[in-house]
Amino acid sequence: MNKTIGVLGGGQLGRMLAESANRLNIKLVALDKPAAPAKQITAHGAHVDGSFKDPASIRALASAVDVLTIEIEHVDAVVLAEVEAAGTPVHPAPSTIRLIQDKFEQKRHLRAAGIAVPDFVGLESNSMEELARVGDLLGYPYMLKSRKEAYDGRGNFPVSSRDSIPAAQAALAGRPLYAERWCPFECELAVIVVQTSTDTLTYPAVETVHADSICKLVYAPARNISTATAAAASALARRAVASFSGRGIFAVELFLQPSGDLLVNEIAPRPHNSGHWTIEACPLSQFDAHLRAVLDLPLPPSSLLPREPAIMLNILGGAASGAHLALVDAALATPRCSVHLYGKGPGTPGRKMGHITLTAPSMSEASALMAPLVHVADQIAA
Ligand code: ATP
Ligand code: MG
Ligand code: MG
Repeated sequence: MNKTIGVLGGGQLGRMLAESANRLNIKLVALDKPAAPAKQITAHGAHVDGSFKDPASIRALASAVDVLTIEIEHVDAVVLAEVEAAGTPVHPAPSTIRLIQDKFEQKRHLRAAGIAVPDFVGLESNSMEELARVGDLLGYPYMLKSRKEAYDGRGNFPVSSRDSIPAAQAALAGRPLYAERWCPFECELAVIVVQTSTDTLTYPAVETVHADSICKLVYAPARNISTATAAAASALARRAVASFSGRGIFAVELFLQPSGDLLVNEIAPRPHNSGHWTIEACPLSQFDAHLRAVLDLPLPPSSLLPREPAIMLNILGGAASGAHLALVDAALATPRCSVHLYGKGPGTPGRKMGHITLTAPSMSEASALMAPLVHVADQIAA
């Protein structure tokens, strides 16, 4: 392949994208800090050191590549629109990135497109009076959310009662916020959607398990949901993604309500933690699919079908520095496990350091093999 792809961001998603690019001999150039995870495994001198929010760095990256994509949505979308207008294709579209990076604007867009989302309200001042009024409107608990720069739950605060409003204000001080009605979901699902130049494809719906708002486990396919629910999840995800322009992977996070109804929680315009299992379980991973979609290469739909059920367990930084390595040791000794480490050093509490994917002929076999690893993960948890 003689194409060069530029990526804003060089974290673990960029690193796994680079693994896919390397296999196809596609040159991947990352914009991020020196020695970022994606740069560690791509030995060439063309990477750009800097911030994916810095206009000059983005322009420098654009001038060195054939096409631009992102592995994080918290980028300067205005400059991306400018480099696109100047001739460098950007996927997904800068307008899509701009909409999605503001979770309040994203929700307004989805609601206007007829996609079911949790009830939500915008906030003006984040004052005690306003937050108490929201409590009267949505009931307690409700979820206070940062509009921007949110990831791994680090922009969320559950407001349990009027008394906890000051703690919420302190936790999210200085950030533009909005509020959502609490969703007592049965479980959380996610669908990885691939938008190509001609098609919208999906991987099967998976079940995601979060602890403290951060993804812990992914079951692929989702356990204990009917065929009808799985089909409805895929259809809703496709419809939601079709409302955004641009090619590549989109991850759609869903809440399955006790009523059986599905709500869209949020959309990520890039490869996503809920799709890591595709690396081992499918002929084409979400990273392979993203590259092919962005570069307009063939993407046979049947290549997205899993060969075996899979479970993914995140390796999170533990309470003590390096504590997560106990989980790595246990996973290395466990049959059917693939271990991924992201090259992030000794780790800080709760940080995503790597992940483990286990595939087996049946979900019950996979669960039995994974159970001791979940136990180790719980022991080292921050
Ligand atoms: P990500 O790392 O997926 O980008 P994020 O920081 O953007 O996460 P959300 O996806 O908004 O955060 O929320 C994280 C988790 O918090 C959800 O997966 C869910 O478990 C819980 N959560 C979010 N919104 C609600 C809600 N309205 N009601 C109940 N739980 C919620
Ligand atoms: Mg998010
Ligand atoms: Mg989320």
